[in-house]
Amino acid sequence: MVALLDDITSRQDNERVTARHEEFLKAVKKLISVYYPNIRLDDFPSYKLVRNGGIHPIGILVSIILSQNTSDRNASVALRRLKERVGEYLDPAKLKKVSVEELEEIIRPSGMQRQKSQAITNVLKEFREDPDALMREDPEKLRERLLRIDGVGPKTADVFLLFVRGYPTFPMDTHIRRFLERMGIGCRSEPYEKLRERVLQLLPRDPGFLLAAHLAIIMHGRKVCRARNPLCHECVINSLCPYYRGKLQEISKDETR
Ligand code: SF4
Repeated sequence: MVALLDDITSRQDNERVTARHEEFLKAVKKLISVYYPNIRLDDFPSYKLVRNGGIHPIGILVSIILSQNTSDRNASVALRRLKERVGEYLDPAKLKKVSVEELEEIIRPSGMQRQKSQAITNVLKEFREDPDALMREDPEKLRERLLRIDGVGPKTADVFLLFVRGYPTFPMDTHIRRFLERMGIGCRSEPYEKLRERVLQLLPRDPGFLLAAHLAIIMHGRKVCRARNPLCHECVINSLCPYYRGKLQEISKDETR
C-alpha cells in the first residue's frame, strides 16, 4: 500500500514538473513574440556590435568583458575610448601594443578596470598566434579554451558563442536567474552550469530561438519582472507564472482569515 502511494505521489510530482516545463516554454515563446520584434540594439551594445559588423571578433570579446558588472552606458564609454586609441576595428595587433596600465586607464569608466584590463590582456595572449581561431575553432572546444582564460567567465564565453558564433548556448545573467526562479525552473543561486544545462534541455536547441529568448527575458526582467516590485498584474505571462499564482493564493488566504 505504501509503495502504491509512493508511486502515485511520484507520478503526480512528475506530471507537475512536466506541466511547469511546458508553461515555461509557452511563457518564453510569448516573451519572444512581445519583446523581440521591438528590441532596440542600443539596449544590447555587444549585440549591436555583432549586428553592425566592422569590428574584429577579439574586439567583440573585449566589449563583452567591458560590459561585465556595469551599466551599458559605462561600458559604451569605455569602448568608445578604446576605439579612439586603437581604431574602430579593434585590431588585435593594435590592441596588443597598448600596455596593461594604459588599457586600465582607458577602460576606467567601465569599472573594475584592473581585473578587466588583465582579462583583456590574457585574451590577447591566448589568441596572439591566431586571433581568427575565435571564428574557426569548434565551439565546444572554444568554450573550454575561453573558460581557461583568467578573467573570462561562463557568461562572457556564452554571450560570445551565441551572439558571434551562433552556437546554441544560453548565457545566464541576473535578470534571467531571477526569472527562472520565479518560473519555478531553478534557484537563482544555483551553479551557472547546472542552470544553463537545464534551460538548454527545456528550450529548442536553435541558436535563433535561444538568442531571441535571451534578449527577450532580459528586456522582461528590466521592464516588468523587476527585482523589486515586479509588475505581475500587467505581465503578459502571469497566467503561466507559479510565483504569481503563489501571490494570488496568499492574498485569497489573507482575505478568508
Ligand atoms: S507574473 Fe510577475 S513574477 Fe511572474 S514573470 Fe510576470 S512579472 Fe515575473
